This record gives sequence, C-alpha cells and structure tokens, in this order.
Amino acid sequence: MLRILDIVPGTSVDGPGLRTAIYFAGCSHNCPGCHNPSSHDFAGGREMTIEDIVSVIEDYGFNVTYSGGDPLQQDPELLTELSRRLTECGYNLWCYTGYNYEHVICHPALKYIDVLVDGPFIEEQRDPSLIFKGSVNQRLIDLKMSTRDDIVEWKSDF
Ligand code: SF4
Repeated sequence: MLRILDIVPGTSVDGPGLRTAIYFAGCSHNCPGCHNPSSHDFAGGREMTIEDIVSVIEDYGFNVTYSGGDPLQQDPELLTELSRRLTECGYNLWCYTGYNYEHVICHPALKYIDVLVDGPFIEEQRDPSLIFKGSVNQRLIDLKMSTRDDIVEWKSDF
C-alpha cells in the first residue's frame, strides 16, 4: 500500500498543463519554511492500493505529478509499479523530491518519471517568480534527456 494524503485534479502549478497531483504522506527533510508541514507525518492520510490510485487518475484523465511529502520516501517497489502503470496508460509524470538527483539516481521509479524537481526547499533562496519550483537551488530535470554526467533541465515552451 502507498500512503496518500490527497489526490487533487486540475492543478496548474505542479508542472505544465492541468495535472492531477498525488500528495504522498511522509517527509523527513524538514525544510524550514516548508509549504506543506502537515504532509510530514508518515502515518498521515490513508493507505491506497495501486489499483485504487490508477482508477482515480483514470477518472480525471490529466497528466500526473507526485508531490507530498516526499514521494521518493514511499516504498520504492510500490512507487515504481505505480509509475510503470501510469506510464503504460500514457500519462506524463513529474515528481517532486527533497533529495538531490545525484542521491536518488538509482531509484527504480525514475525510469518512468519524465521530470524530477529535486532538492530541498531553501528559504533563503525562495523566489516566487520561479516556475514550478520554490527556491533557486531546485532543478527541473528532464530525466529522459539526462545522464549521470549530463543533467538536462526541462525547458518550458511557453
Ligand atoms: S522536501 Fe518538500 S515536503 Fe519535505 S520538508 Fe522539504 S519542502 Fe516540505
């Protein structure tokens, strides 16, 4: 089971276009100034099966963003299976994490994720004008174009 705080359709601030945001419960990064401290509890929200989550995503039909909490602190096998299923259904996947990419580069779910928004939120580097991220240190990494030695940042075409 994956631990889900909420699934919210129609968000436009967590990646391009209208998307369904899956808010996973649990985060240990404790970034000062975190936008969502109520998401830190690993016992928060409710448990959902992969089937249940896919069914909700299919009902809405939007591309998908993993947020939280830190999605990469969920069970890696289950998150990978969910990501595989959503990719097979044709959804574009974005994932927010408090880890730097280099730290999670071997996470098996990354194979299915299109863009990783990485790094902790750093209050001193907060800039409200940034698109799809909160602080300057964070990167929107195009995982389909990136390699370990050549990180390519996602570019907006609008
Ligand atoms: S990684 Fe995200 S959810 Fe976790 S403490 Fe930092 S800003 Fe908050």
